[in-house]
Amino acid sequence: MAHAPAQPTAVNAFDGAGAAPAAQTTYPVIVVGAGFAGIGAAIRLRQAGINFLLLEKGNEIGGVWRDNSYPGCGCDVPSALYSYSFAPNPRWSQFFAQQGEIKDYTRRTAEQFGVMDRVRLQHELLEARWVDAQKLWRLHTSAGVYWAQFVVMASGPMHVPVLPHIKGLDTFTGVHFHSARWDHGYDLRGKRVAVIGSGASAIQFVPHIAPLVQRLTLFQRTAPWVLPKFDPPISARWHHHGPAQAHCHHRGRPRTPGQLQPPSPSRATNHGVEQRLL
Ligand SMILES: Cc1cc2nc3c(=O)[nH]c(=O)nc-3n(C[C@H](O)[C@H](O)[C@H](O)COP(=O)(O)OP(=O)(O)OC[C@H]3O[C@@H](n4cnc5c(N)ncnc54)[C@H](O)[C@@H]3O)c2cc1C
Repeated sequence: MAHAPAQPTAVNAFDGAGAAPAAQTTYPVIVVGAGFAGIGAAIRLRQAGINFLLLEKGNEIGGVWRDNSYPGCGCDVPSALYSYSFAPNPRWSQFFAQQGEIKDYTRRTAEQFGVMDRVRLQHELLEARWVDAQKLWRLHTSAGVYWAQFVVMASGPMHVPVLPHIKGLDTFTGVHFHSARWDHGYDLRGKRVAVIGSGASAIQFVPHIAPLVQRLTLFQRTAPWVLPKFDPPISARWHHHGPAQAHCHHRGRPRTPGQLQPPSPSRATNHGVEQRLL
């Protein structure tokens, strides 16, 4: 099989499935999707010295962290863990980083590990077909045809928002939008707002909009367990000295990081964080 040159170019026409692949568009591996998974796969391929291309249908990398920007959007897993094992970030500003910081981290990591030159934005995979005669995958994208020996699908399980089938939604004359496509141009202040669903996103944005709106009604099918989030800011001292020499003060009582405990639900509040990582 012909390996691709350093700077491959796309073929813009949709040629027939039996047509011989051009060397410029043939890769050992093509990764589809530039979210956490695709970027991670790309970095490992680069480190292994395997030529590849990373196709992304959006006009930016970052996956769900590019698409979700609702108030309070952030991770539910501590950022020190919600990171690549090979690219720890000592600069997280809080325990559970917010969307913008995570999106920046994906971009920075992709740049740091030198995979950005392999990213092709606005390349949506439309069809993948195995061509036995060539022993290659033929990938028809919105920006041309590519061929690959192996295809890594990293297209994500939840980047397309799912609107519930609610009777009357199509004739509802009020403003409505999905939390994953937050309408930042619409001012919710003083409005009567209904939130459908009480999953992880609602749990994050409802406390942010509740004080602004005139009335908020939350419709939930299944009540989730909700506990206060232990989400202290991480101080400059922690960044400077690292966790080994830092102490965690919880309600004035010093603790070493190894003793870090979430506050008991009965005593903790979501507001006025009293914990600080020093
Ligand atoms: C608001 C939110 C908070 C979350 N918080 C957490 C958390 O705290 N902890 C946790 O473990 N998980 C969390 N998740 C789950 C999250 O989906 C995963 O952690 C992870 O980011 C998914 O990465 P991914 O690369 O698999 O998919 P995605 O981030 O969805 O990336 C897929 C990429 O593929 C692209 N793509 C899709 N189809 C095509 C195509 N046909 N052609 C080209 N490109 C395509 C998309 O545009 C996208 O950029 C959260 C999800 C959301 C939405």
